[in-house]
Amino acid sequence: MTAYSINNTFAVDADASQLILWPEQAHLFDREKAFLIAGSGSNLLFVDSCFDGQVILSGNQTFRLSETSEHYVVELGAGLNWHQTIIRLLDLGIYGLENLALIPGTVGAAPVQNIGAYGVEFSDFCYQVDVIDLSATEKQTSCDGTAFTLSNEECQFGYRDSVFKHKLKQRYLIHQVTLHLTKNWQANLNYAPLNQLNLDASAKQIFDLVCQVRTQKLPDPNEIPNAGSFFKNPIISTAEAEKLKQSDPNLPVYPILDSDQVKVAAGYLIDKTGLKGFQLGQAAIHDKQALVIVNNAKADGKQIAELAKYVRLQVFQQYGIWLEPEVRFIRAQGEVDAVAFLDALDY
Ligand SMILES: Cc1cc2nc3c(=O)[nH]c(=O)nc-3n(C[C@H](O)[C@H](O)[C@H](O)COP(=O)(O)OP(=O)(O)OC[C@H]3O[C@@H](n4cnc5c(N)ncnc54)[C@H](O)[C@@H]3O)c2cc1C
Repeated sequence: MTAYSINNTFAVDADASQLILWPEQAHLFDREKAFLIAGSGSNLLFVDSCFDGQVILSGNQTFRLSETSEHYVVELGAGLNWHQTIIRLLDLGIYGLENLALIPGTVGAAPVQNIGAYGVEFSDFCYQVDVIDLSATEKQTSCDGTAFTLSNEECQFGYRDSVFKHKLKQRYLIHQVTLHLTKNWQANLNYAPLNQLNLDASAKQIFDLVCQVRTQKLPDPNEIPNAGSFFKNPIISTAEAEKLKQSDPNLPVYPILDSDQVKVAAGYLIDKTGLKGFQLGQAAIHDKQALVIVNNAKADGKQIAELAKYVRLQVFQQYGIWLEPEVRFIRAQGEVDAVAFLDALDY
């Protein structure tokens, strides 16, 4: 049987039995068979080197603009490249997304983990998300999946989280998103190093600085395969953080508005365990950015997972905090809970 290679920025081998571009090749879709929805694979780890089923990719390249008195209304197809879309909007004088520049991936994946960077999240601009329920009918093959729309509230956005990671996981193909970008744009310079810019900085200046900083800080997946931040920043109680700060006064913590919890910088925790540059097989902790696991040569997904398990253990032993992967783990049968997978992994 022919195997199709699934793109992923970890550059690990990952085969599927079928790749289907939706809606162009929807007639090939077989609802009776397993399927995985993917974008450009920048947040996926294929731990079995394959997915035994069909991989669905959005081919929707819609780019439509309209406006109200207050907003630009931007309808974007899920198959568009996120970064290129930001450039296109900037060129049209439509601002707001510049802090999210250079995040790899597609527009369709942006709501799934509510992508965020430099004090801004996708949910800040999302008006609605159009989805197609791929399991909607009992028909064996069909291209008329049931479509419906979710409001911002219905998407249940949180920190790297949304309803698409829970109730609507791996069943609903995001087909299109609608953003509201205010005409009364104001720079968001709250987050370092953007706070070094003048208060009257333009969106283009912010975009340029974000690109510059990200290029310096993060390895380019085209040169050194990786999936960006491997772990989420853990959220702990303020009391727990106070206790940790007694033994490590430099521990970076970020208060969470209206709560008695704080976010801790996962990269700092890993760095403090001395793991920067640490290599296990062909997988390694990046030598400049401890939050990033890289594939140095021919690591497979399992080796990368083994290193992730080791990192979790080291951080737990030093800080009593279990890190949780931000990256999604895909086995031959489909997505699995990453923490449960790592707990059960022998190495
Ligand atoms: C170098 C680097 C830097 C990064 N920096 C950041 C960052 O700053 N902030 C951040 O938030 N993320 C960051 N990421 C993670 C990644 O870029 C985002 O998660 C991105 O949104 C993934 O897009 P993708 O198209 O590659 O999705 P994939 O990795 O292919 O898929 C991710 C998830 O989305 C689902 N999905 C994808 N498309 C659809 C769709 N159309 N409908 C329904 N579900 C879908 C998949 O099933 C999967 O669960 C970074 C990654 C890299 C490699």
